[in-house]
Amino acid sequence: MRTAQLFWGVVALNVAVVWALFFTVAPEPRHPLIGVGQFLGLHAALLMILQLTLIARLPWLDRRVGMDRLTSWHRWVGFTLFWVVLLHPAFVVLGYAVFYRSTVWRQLTNLAGMAGSLAGMVALALVIVAAGVSVRWARRRLSYETWHALHLLLYAAVTLVLIHQLFEVSAFTGAPVAAAYWWVLWIFAITALIAGRIVLPVWRNARHRLYVAAVVPESPDVVSVHIRGRDLDRLPARAGQFFIWRFPGYAGWWRANPFSLSAAPDGRSLRLTAKAVGDASAALRHVPVGSRVFAEGPYGAFTAMHRTRDRTLLIAGGVGVTPIRALLEDLPGDVVVLYRARTDADAVLLEEMRALARTRDARVHLLAGRTSAGDPPFGPDNLRRLVPDLTDRDVYVCGPPAMTDAVLRSLRDLGVPRRQVHAERFRLAA
Ligand SMILES: Cc1cc2nc3c(=O)[nH]c(=O)nc-3n(C[C@H](O)[C@H](O)[C@H](O)COP(=O)(O)OP(=O)(O)OC[C@H]3O[C@@H](n4cnc5c(N)ncnc54)[C@H](O)[C@@H]3O)c2cc1C
Repeated sequence: MRTAQLFWGVVALNVAVVWALFFTVAPEPRHPLIGVGQFLGLHAALLMILQLTLIARLPWLDRRVGMDRLTSWHRWVGFTLFWVVLLHPAFVVLGYAVFYRSTVWRQLTNLAGMAGSLAGMVALALVIVAAGVSVRWARRRLSYETWHALHLLLYAAVTLVLIHQLFEVSAFTGAPVAAAYWWVLWIFAITALIAGRIVLPVWRNARHRLYVAAVVPESPDVVSVHIRGRDLDRLPARAGQFFIWRFPGYAGWWRANPFSLSAAPDGRSLRLTAKAVGDASAALRHVPVGSRVFAEGPYGAFTAMHRTRDRTLLIAGGVGVTPIRALLEDLPGDVVVLYRARTDADAVLLEEMRALARTRDARVHLLAGRTSAGDPPFGPDNLRRLVPDLTDRDVYVCGPPAMTDAVLRSLRDLGVPRRQVHAERFRLAA
């Protein structure tokens, strides 16, 4: 069974357990509306636990599913959570108002007077802020760092939800079996989060003590940074993966940017290649040799682990060539590379890819020049002409979003099975 199906199967199983507990051991609600509110509250807690697991960056899950897919699930679960969290108090307050024949406002102020309910209300306000800054309109107008800082408010919301759950809600704590179940879930999620986001990165950085070994300009706006460190042969990184890098002092401690490995890890060094698009990526050109580097990772499922065929087609566009270049070194068998760049001069890492191809069973085609509407470089006809046996290959694609979408559409039209198609979008669904 595939990991994604297994993951959602476990989630469905937990939904079934929550329903079973609610209908068997939870105390009878005073009013059906309160019951609906409590039922939604249980799902809100489950969704929060799911959210923590999705962003815990657990290596086992990340290697199989990929961080782009995990963050995309996180985004959709987040909006579902928003609606459930909104409806939960609405039903509870309405239910109490009907039951006590009083007003909604009176019930709201009563509940706000109780510590547990107040904690829940503040958590709701924080979820509204986080959801508000995550809708596409707002997200596009905020810098990544501002959005991320506001999003961190959700950790406070999680703490408040735990307080709310432990001290107020009888559906959680009414029966020992229900309380034990929820404790196990929360402990699992929080431990996974602390292990994946704090313990593992801190331990790996202390162990490997990464530093900049060289900075090599590849073009006027692209630079490669070579990294060395201790015992790099024990770092479980693979070609096609990325790290989230921090270069303190040059881009600021709080800036952490994802960059893929642009060469297969050889146990002695790592290399990233970055295009200057903003402050942090532009600063890399000036990072002094010898300075310390901190990295979280390796992350990503864009690796040979997911290969299903002996032959491979690698498709790169622009700076999306970085993981493709690393995969060319790593993937065995017959490999064809299609590399799309505006001009020959923009095609960074091209010469080393050609040199690599000469040492193995591989061909590299550069597709440079303007795109004409009548003859798109990655239209189905062109793809079939360039790589006639493409349906028998795994296809790895990394490039600008429009190009990646065009390639995926063509592969679908040409009937390449989905399991043979692997895409890295250089975008986390944040
Ligand atoms: C998995 C992955 C692998 C990548 N690999 C490469 C690579 O090999 N080479 C390369 O040149 N670029 C790569 N990128 C893109 C690179 O991360 C961004 O160009 C870079 O972070 C921009 O930062 P900035 O501060 O210079 O620019 P900004 O103007 O601050 O950011 C430009 C955009 O980059 C994205 N971004 C910025 N910071 C982050 C962050 N911490 N996490 C996620 N997204 C962020 C945001 O969408 C932002 O709007 C990759 C991105 C991802 C998600």
